[in-house]
Amino acid sequence: MDFYSTKTPTYKVDLKEAVIRSLPPDNGLYMPETIPTLSDEFWANWRDYSFAELGFQIVKPLLGDDIPEDDLRAIVEDAINFDAPVVTLSDKLHILELFQGPTLAFKDFGARFMARLMGYLTRDDESMLTVLVATSGDTGGAVASAFHKVPGTRVVILYPKGKVSALQEKQLTTLGDNIHALEIDGTFDDCQRMVKAAFLNRELSEKLNLTSANSINISRLIPQSFYYFHAARQLPEGVEPTFVVPSGNFGNLTAGLLAQEMGLKIKHFVAATNANDVVPSYLKSGEYITRPSTATISNAMDVGAPSNFARMNEIYSGSWEGMRARIEGYAFDDDTTRVAIKRTADNYNYQVCPHTAVGVLAAEAWSETHSDDVNVVLATAHPSKFLPTMEEELGTDSVEIPERLACLADLPKEATLLPPDEQALQDWVATAL
Ligand SMILES: *Cc1c(COP(=O)(O)O)cnc(C)c1O
Repeated sequence: MDFYSTKTPTYKVDLKEAVIRSLPPDNGLYMPETIPTLSDEFWANWRDYSFAELGFQIVKPLLGDDIPEDDLRAIVEDAINFDAPVVTLSDKLHILELFQGPTLAFKDFGARFMARLMGYLTRDDESMLTVLVATSGDTGGAVASAFHKVPGTRVVILYPKGKVSALQEKQLTTLGDNIHALEIDGTFDDCQRMVKAAFLNRELSEKLNLTSANSINISRLIPQSFYYFHAARQLPEGVEPTFVVPSGNFGNLTAGLLAQEMGLKIKHFVAATNANDVVPSYLKSGEYITRPSTATISNAMDVGAPSNFARMNEIYSGSWEGMRARIEGYAFDDDTTRVAIKRTADNYNYQVCPHTAVGVLAAEAWSETHSDDVNVVLATAHPSKFLPTMEEELGTDSVEIPERLACLADLPKEATLLPPDEQALQDWVATAL
């Protein structure tokens, strides 16, 4: 399968280039040249496969020409090693728990698949693949965990000293092995500037075989389509679900559109956002207006210029009517979201993180006009990742912290403290790597 740039459809690259370089030089996004539909044989068996085998069967028509079957199956099995169960709150309201992976958010699916695919695609390269990332919190944790002990790869994470939460810092600094944490005596912007400078340094970039493992990478999107199928088959046979997707950069929702294009029967999509409502506004007015992001309690969705919009547009060939026929949009402010956290706990005895709460609100709004729809809200993170907000609404000690997060508190931190300048990073690289 070749991949083309959404900005220049005639510009095409192979899988390795698309995955290792993340972005085409024209700053478009890579899309698969064709989106294959799944075979009759797939549909005869899809309910019986294990989750990992289901993923393999979905990815096979996409990447099966590039990677031998056994290798591709091993990559998927290694990446998808935790479940995504559907929890039923009521007849028409279901929750798809995407937070059962190592870092408790759905980003584990994309990051784990990308890490294994990158390791595989560069296995014969002369130098090791070095993933360089700046993080202000969550992304770094998912990427570090995903690449931990993946052969042929190493990760260098820069984070601003004193500006990430204690548990987030532990997620970055306790893994060891091929994960290196650099604590920068500066801001997140300093970290980003240092990373950028390293990429611009041709010699360094080539010597280290640098990659960014960017969130826009096509290999993060593909595995996110797996759980739409997995959710649908957990509902009674014949039910066509409406998927409600708490959204920021719209990667999660775009993966759902891919699943639909591949043949999964989906009744409708509902895009749920916080105050950053660029896409819901577009669906209403037909005008796409990006703006700087606004800070909210569902901060992983604080995006003013959603990066996957170009891919959504591509799927509907730029047609507003086309997109509107398949996707509805709703936006909610923080006060309403807080009420929904409390109400969901009271009504269903079920705790939702602030992002998922925005999804629950959108599902409620949608069912006012579509009362027969069976709604599945994607739960994007475990509530314990947003403890202060959760405890404000539900009370102190009301939220259970899963062992894999709680146990980090006792592990020793290992990080190298560096001043916020480019040369310091390059000096560290020269001696440490
Ligand atoms: C990243 C993230 C989102 C937004 O997902 P997109 O794919 O960017 O739309 C929502 N919730 C949580 C918890 C996230 O980490």
